[in-house]
Parts: sequence; structure tokens; C-alpha cells
Amino acid sequence: MSTNLLNTDSLPYCKGCGHDLIAKHTTKALEKLNYKALDVIIVTDIGCHGIIDKCLNTHTVHGLHGRSVALGAGIALGLNHPDKKIIVFIGDGGATIGLQHILEAARLNLNMTVMVHNNMLYGMTGGQTSGLTPYGFRTTTSYDGNPFGGYDLCGLLQSAGSSYACRILGIGDISDKLAVAIGTKGFSLAEVIEICPGFGMKLNPKRKLGEIAESSGRKPGEWINRRDKFEMPVTKKTNNLFERAPLIKKEFTHYLKQKTTILISGSAGEGIQLAATILSKASMRSGLSVTQKGSYPVTVGVGFSAAEVNLSDKHIFFHGITQPDIAIITSEDGLAYAKQRIKQMQNGMLIIDTSLEKPITKAEIVERDFRMVGAKYAALYAILYYALKTGVISTEAVFKTLDQEGLQDKFPLALIKDALVK
Ligand code: SF4
Repeated sequence: MSTNLLNTDSLPYCKGCGHDLIAKHTTKALEKLNYKALDVIIVTDIGCHGIIDKCLNTHTVHGLHGRSVALGAGIALGLNHPDKKIIVFIGDGGATIGLQHILEAARLNLNMTVMVHNNMLYGMTGGQTSGLTPYGFRTTTSYDGNPFGGYDLCGLLQSAGSSYACRILGIGDISDKLAVAIGTKGFSLAEVIEICPGFGMKLNPKRKLGEIAESSGRKPGEWINRRDKFEMPVTKKTNNLFERAPLIKKEFTHYLKQKTTILISGSAGEGIQLAATILSKASMRSGLSVTQKGSYPVTVGVGFSAAEVNLSDKHIFFHGITQPDIAIITSEDGLAYAKQRIKQMQNGMLIIDTSLEKPITKAEIVERDFRMVGAKYAALYAILYYALKTGVISTEAVFKTLDQEGLQDKFPLALIKDALVK
């Protein structure tokens, strides 16, 4: 049943998974409504349903767990185009994690459709109970049956103000029912009750979808409010945010010969991200294109802090770094985080604090006592040292950046300058 919107018949789900039916009949419904692939933006959530992205010819955006409706809402507000269709795919777990996002989108009656893949448990993570698991349904965390009833999602949506909500049993051809939701102007949601053969079917043998819905009080139906679709007030429109960003003009010369990827890795609270930003802005001040990305643990303030910086004299279209050309390491935490990538470096340069054990690598190893200026300033010292050692940008560009950002008093610059020339 491949369609113009799906590029394969063979979807990547377990045999018999209800997600297969929803994906195929959503695309079938879209075609019945004459949508072309590039008129459709499908936002997926975390969960088994989300592995559909690669099978779709439509635009796709993959969201964080429970946040895909917020992403869809942002697209709806920004796009606000009557001929485009925004559809959010989400599971029952994601729908209850991000329930507030759904209620707000319904309250604003944003022009979008949410397809809830309600297989009554978290499939991808091992069959745990979700907020939509019906009373008595067995899961891996409610082995004797869920002692609570699941939320009445459609009822909640109606009270929040959605134009249209429906609950459908995921059996047979559901494309006409999905087309009603998709064809709604304003906010609509279709909750499709389906089964996960991987967990739900094994734990609840012989139970049928209709009987589960009936006995749990979550029967199929429609919940309708007659509302106009949300119109974004013209006065609320903002200009392109890039226009508000201060322009960094070229004032210095660079000597970069080829695109260079830099990994700066140290400890949280030791100024790694700030040092990376100073390096990035000094490089822009030298006429280079730059990208910067930060990584740190969920609990900010402990463990490692790392920044990836790309430098190029051309536009940069991909900001990721697999293997760095330059690794700058200022602490134990930073080394532990970057060790594997340093080991894989076949060339380039490892600039590392003298106190640290040197990992095995084919990169040139350059040692320096960066921490002697103080742990919080070691990263700035290290990026200044990188500038001095490689000559890619001048240290003047770095000092000018510190000056422009009003940061010169935040660092012991006399001490760092002294250390640099020793
Ligand atoms: S684990 Fe369950 S939800 Fe995930 S693909 Fe398999 S059957 Fe579908």
C-alpha cells in the first residue's frame, strides 16, 4: 500500500504493530484530501512510532519525548499557511508526558492535527504503564493490571477547546476517520487505540481492542467544539531574530588553510563554554565562519563540559564533529569525556594540561600547565595558547573580543599573558 507520501510498504515495526496501520492510513487520508508530500510537515516524538521518519516523503521533524506537540505548535504559529498540514505523531507515553503542550495547542486552537498512537503502554522502553493505560490492562510495571484508569484524553481536549477530537479503534481501514481529523480547520486530535504485539498482546492474551476500550470506559467517539481556527495576530509577528543579533565585523586577518574542527573539553564550572565562545567570536572577528555547540551532563555544574567549534573560510553547513583536528583538554573530567575520540585521532594536535595522563593517539601532543593560572581560567589560557601556537588567528583578536564583551576584568589577564610568553 505504498503511497506518494510513503516511500515503502515495509514499515520498520514489529509484525502486527498498530503503528503500521496508523502510518499507512494517515498518508492515505492525506492523499484523499489531495495533500502533496511537501505540503505536509510531520513531527514525530520519541517512541517506536518515531522511526517512521525515514519512510516518509513529507517534511519531517523529530522531537524530544513529549515535546513534539510544542514543536508542531511552533511550526503552526510560524507557518500559519492554510494549504500546509502539520501533523504530530506521538505515543500514549509522550502524550501524557507532554499533556500540557497538547492542552495549550488545543486552547489556542492551532491549525494542526495530533495522531496519538495509543497502544496503552510504553513500547520502545519495555512495556511500562503510561498515563493512558486503561484500568486492568497488564503492563511490565503493572503485572496484575493497571490499578488506575487512564486519562480521558479526548474529554480533556474538548474542555481545553480543541475543534475536534476522536477516539478510534485501530482496526481495518481507518483512513476516512483520520481524514475527518486531518480535514478539520483548527486543532484536532485522533486517539487511535491499538495494540503492541511486543508487550501488550503477550501480557494481555485473548483480549480484544473493542472489549478493552468498552470495559475501561474509553469508548470510540467524537468530541467537537465549533470554533474558528486560530489566527496569529499580525502585531505579534516578530522580525527575523538574526537581524537583532549584533554583527561582528572583520577586523583581523586569519591564516586558516582548511576547515578545522576543535574540541575543547574540561570540567563544568571552569569556563569551557565561555572560552569556546570567545574563540568563536575572535575567529569571526578574523573573517571566519564558525559554529559552536556545547555538551554537558544533565546536571549542569558537575562532571565534564565540552564545546565543539568548527572554523572555516567558507560557509559551514554541518556543525557536527566526529573526530576533532584539534583537541584542547584542561581537566580530568574533560579527558575522560574526550578520551575515545582522542584515541581515534590519526593526525592533528592534542593540547593538554601537563597534570593529565597522555592518552594514546597519533595526534601531535603539546603539553602546557594551563591550570597554573587557576582552574576557572585554564580554558581561556588554552585557547589563547592555541591561537599563538598555530597562528590561525591572532591573540589580539582574542583580547579584542574580551574587551568587546566586557570580560577583561573577569580574567587574570596579566598572569595569563605572562604565562603565554614563557
Ligand atoms: S515494541 Fe510494540 S510498539 Fe514498538 S514496534 Fe514493536 S509492537 Fe510496535
